Amino acid sequence: MNEAFFIASSFLCSMVDLFIYNSLTRTKEKFTPLHKQFVGMYVCGPTVYNFAHLGNCRTFVTFDTVYRYLTFLGYKVRYVRNITDVGHITTEFDEGVDRIGAQAKLEQVEPMEIVQKYTTYFHDMMREFNNHPPSIEPSATGHIMEQIAMIEEIIKNGYAYEVNGSVYFDVKKYKDVFPYGELSGRNVDELLENTRELDGQEEKRFFADFALWKAASPEHIMRWPSPWGEGFPGWHLECSAMSTKYLGEEFDLHGGGMDLKFPHHESEVAQNSACCGKAPVRYWMHANMLTVNGQKMSKSLGNSFLPHELFSGTHALLEKGFTPMVVRFFMQQAHYRSTLDFSNEALKASEKGFERLMQAVEKAGSLTASDSSSYDIAALEKNCFEAMSDDFNTPILIAHLFEAVKVINSCLDNKIQLTLTDIERLQKLVNGFVFEVLGLQAEVSGASNDISNDLMQVIIRLRAEAKTKKDFATSDLIRDELKAINIQLQDSKEGTTWTHEK
Ligand code: AMP
Ligand code: ZN
Repeated sequence: MNEAFFIASSFLCSMVDLFIYNSLTRTKEKFTPLHKQFVGMYVCGPTVYNFAHLGNCRTFVTFDTVYRYLTFLGYKVRYVRNITDVGHITTEFDEGVDRIGAQAKLEQVEPMEIVQKYTTYFHDMMREFNNHPPSIEPSATGHIMEQIAMIEEIIKNGYAYEVNGSVYFDVKKYKDVFPYGELSGRNVDELLENTRELDGQEEKRFFADFALWKAASPEHIMRWPSPWGEGFPGWHLECSAMSTKYLGEEFDLHGGGMDLKFPHHESEVAQNSACCGKAPVRYWMHANMLTVNGQKMSKSLGNSFLPHELFSGTHALLEKGFTPMVVRFFMQQAHYRSTLDFSNEALKASEKGFERLMQAVEKAGSLTASDSSSYDIAALEKNCFEAMSDDFNTPILIAHLFEAVKVINSCLDNKIQLTLTDIERLQKLVNGFVFEVLGLQAEVSGASNDISNDLMQVIIRLRAEAKTKKDFATSDLIRDELKAINIQLQDSKEGTTWTHEK
């Protein structure tokens, strides 16, 4: 049993209930998993036709934090996050072209080369942000058989029809029986008013019907045989088929970005209900958008930038680079249901905050115990759990962690006394919430930081040599020059360490 589990199971499970804002009911609800101690969680993954941008990353950091906290509470979580490698078309309705296929034409490579290239980038970025890999990462092209079987079942139940080798979902028939539009809050009549006449829609019986299977035109590269001829699956179907396969007909949590509520998630609910007779998801979670000057960051709007551009500071919008951990911390300083606007100023403030937090966590390892405590660590611990159990409120958690920073610094200055038991509890608390729940890392990755540290070790060694030779002029000069660029050296019996205050 790890330490975090120990804190969680010994302290929390009996005291704080987890509440989740359910997008389906638009209220915060107490979280009760279908099977005690087990959680099934599905998150819509990326469409790998292009580099994942920072907005995409925000959504995945959000659900990584959810996954981490559930695990921290002692749940055994099966986290399924798919890779969309076929079927996602360029428009909201079905008249567009397949994004992967279109990009393959543009780059003049095989569609699967596109999939490989952008999946690799996506995985690299997830690692940079210290996101845990999901338990299962299924791809749409790897589940064509399951998708075909689901379509057959929907047709059998009377909620889909075939035209010229394509199969469409029959929304009109479905909405007579099931509450279509419940999740997104859109009703079909309103939709009709806002819909343009679209080309390629004439096969549908009703404008809101959507494709479960599309017949492939002769030039279409990605194609599979099916009972209706050669074609490819509709985008919404993969998530229904794969969530059912790995999590069952009904499961606990489904997440994704807010922009997926309609039509993607609404269609998922419809497909599952039409196939299995019941709504698939108990708690729907939607993460809000990362914006740039108030506008959603998106590839099509041309205001997106890529994580590696942010790390290196090489984008025109950026004044400097920021490490992945600073960016992760920046994202977590906003609640996932609020929009988060990108700005250099906000990132610089996060950088300072992150360093202050990390320095305090390190210092927490060297506190000295007193006979009695003048601070209530248990109350602080409870506040941290309460923040996260209130719909994963990371900004409030971070505020409490800064209270912990004050306690650590006051204890070092002898303004607060703590017993050994309380010191250990405080250490467990900060380590648990900072490293395991928020998933932050003290060691920032990236070559430049490794080099900085290596260089500092060289300078520290040179200074030590100067001291040994009683060349105090040189050793003082090194210390003062470093101080002038905000690098502080701390000497102790164990050796010399360094910190950089911004
Ligand atoms: P896509 O690759 O377009 O299918 O998107 C992958 C995930 O990123 C989905 O859950 C989207 O909702 C999410 N997403 C897209 N743009 C943004 C954004 N600007 N901010 C936050 N999440 C986003
Ligand atoms: Zn999906």
